[in-house]
Amino acid sequence: MKLLISSNNQDKIKEIKSIFQLPGVELLTLADFPGAPDVVEDGNTLYENALKKASMLCEFSGLPTIADDTGLEVDSLGGHPGVYSARYAGENASYNDNIEKLIREIQKVPENRRTARFRTVAVFYHPELILRAEGTIEGYILSERSGSNGFGYDPIFFVPIRNKTLAEMSAAEKNAISHRGQAFSRLYQLLQKEFPSLINI
Ligand code: IMP
Repeated sequence: MKLLISSNNQDKIKEIKSIFQLPGVELLTLADFPGAPDVVEDGNTLYENALKKASMLCEFSGLPTIADDTGLEVDSLGGHPGVYSARYAGENASYNDNIEKLIREIQKVPENRRTARFRTVAVFYHPELILRAEGTIEGYILSERSGSNGFGYDPIFFVPIRNKTLAEMSAAEKNAISHRGQAFSRLYQLLQKEFPSLINI
């Protein structure tokens, strides 16, 4: 059985591949489908975007498809950047551009009000079955980077229960507690329940 991961983000694909290992299921990516359509992430919610990414690529490839959409919700910024996290500093913004903009904003906020969370919505899309699962991790936004692992906002996302940033964690450590780790573990459990024939167990 083959399953497609609908993402162009290599950092995300690496994490999903290590979290979502289904016995007997080969995980393919968009690199295996030259000419796959670009999905414009113009939804108002993480679920809308994740559903769009999974459904469009399932229709294109004919394979059951998984996707996630992730947002960083900063409480003092009214939940922003949220669904706009990838383009917080503008269209085509780099990870670094986004971090710099968030550091500028968070410096205006008192330290005890810098709470935030990552939220991931993961979707499994098959013409006869759509599943959705969510994961969150709570933390604080730092005004200086710390650590060089991970990607995106990880160097400024401090996780109090581990006393370090996501970028100071190994991949295994991050995946064990992260928003994406939780969302895809829950999606896996849902699949086992709702679609056991997909997973050979
Ligand atoms: P999207 O789900 O591809 O729309 O991701 C939105 C943006 O959030 C990405 O471009 C990254 O900057 C950021 N992001 C997503 N997942 C993570 C993560 O696990 N750690 C840090 N930043 C992330």
